[in-house]
Amino acid sequence: MSQMASKARTIDLVLPGREQSYRVLIRAGLRFALGRELASLGLPNRVFIVSDRRVAGLYGGQVTGALEEAGCRSAVLTVAPGERAKTWPVAARLAREFLALGADRRTPLIALGGGVVGDLTGFVASIFMRGVPFIQVPTTLLAMVDAAIGGKTAVNLPEGKNLLGTFYQPRLVIADPDFLRTLPPKERLNGLAEILKHGFIRDPALLDDVAAGHRQLFRDQERLADIICRAGAIKARVVAADEREAGLRRILNFGHTLGHALEAASRFRLPHGQAVAWGMLAALELSRRLTGLSDEAAAYGRDLIKSFGLARKFPAVSIEAVLSALPLDKKREGQNLVFVLLEDVGKPVIYPDVSPGLAVECLRTVAA
Ligand code: ADP
Ligand code: ZN
Repeated sequence: MSQMASKARTIDLVLPGREQSYRVLIRAGLRFALGRELASLGLPNRVFIVSDRRVAGLYGGQVTGALEEAGCRSAVLTVAPGERAKTWPVAARLAREFLALGADRRTPLIALGGGVVGDLTGFVASIFMRGVPFIQVPTTLLAMVDAAIGGKTAVNLPEGKNLLGTFYQPRLVIADPDFLRTLPPKERLNGLAEILKHGFIRDPALLDDVAAGHRQLFRDQERLADIICRAGAIKARVVAADEREAGLRRILNFGHTLGHALEAASRFRLPHGQAVAWGMLAALELSRRLTGLSDEAAAYGRDLIKSFGLARKFPAVSIEAVLSALPLDKKREGQNLVFVLLEDVGKPVIYPDVSPGLAVECLRTVAA
């Protein structure tokens, strides 16, 4: 109980030109305080929770029970775990279920789950009756420090990932590190890769603080909450400065240009964190060659990434497949790639013309 009494860490996300800012609250045990938080936002006390079957099985009862104690009626709607739930037909099915259960345009939708559930629920919330209040309750490390913050929503099409989507900010994000106790190690790594990314682009001290390795990190709930807060705050600050990715928000793509290409080349078998880890390694090597990143800084970054068990063994993908998955503008000949590189740790630059050949060469170098 002493943990429950401790104060929540708070990130305030203030979007310029918007009347509504929102908070990210971080504290162990916060899942039990959801009802009170909803009430303090003046939201109705009848809510719908969307979750995947795995997370619903683990935490659905706790969350609905706590909501009920706070005088809030809720129903849990579930989808299959994993990326395959992020589709238009599932979004439409959810909308119809909300209607059947009596939802109206004021009924809050709560996403209880990882990035998949957050993207899908946010998407539905943004278009159901032209938009209903949306609350994020991320249960993966990746969602807590990245996906749940910033208001990007999406579903996939057979042609590609995230092709239908909206910008729609939640009214509140509740991050309860206790959820991470049941998170499989592979999923933890996905989140750690994003934490490292945030450190590389904005906060060298954060990198030093997580350098003790992830086993250490997950043993100490206070420290974990602190890291989640600092990593989440970096995302929040970047988004606040550039909600719709006109400029600064692009730095969040560090490691993701090659990362996404690797994921696609592996037919999405390679976990996102591993793909981004390889992408960050290659970006460090590119930075060493193009933007004057020192050998020492590049080696520090490489050792740090590897110390987490990320980017250990290069995946069985063909370099040709990676090349063809790179985001080249095919309309123009001799097109180069836009990369986020580093001049130093914590000092990103948008580098507009990296040739695909050089990018792949650096990937080969770091894979060797
Ligand atoms: P991401 O946040 O990486 O996008 P997903 O939403 O795809 O993650 O979730 C990854 C997997 O982890 C799913 O199978 C989901 O059911 C499971 N999961 C999510 N949160 C937890 C948790 N707290 N404990 C155990 N499993 C979880
Ligand atoms: Zn990512």
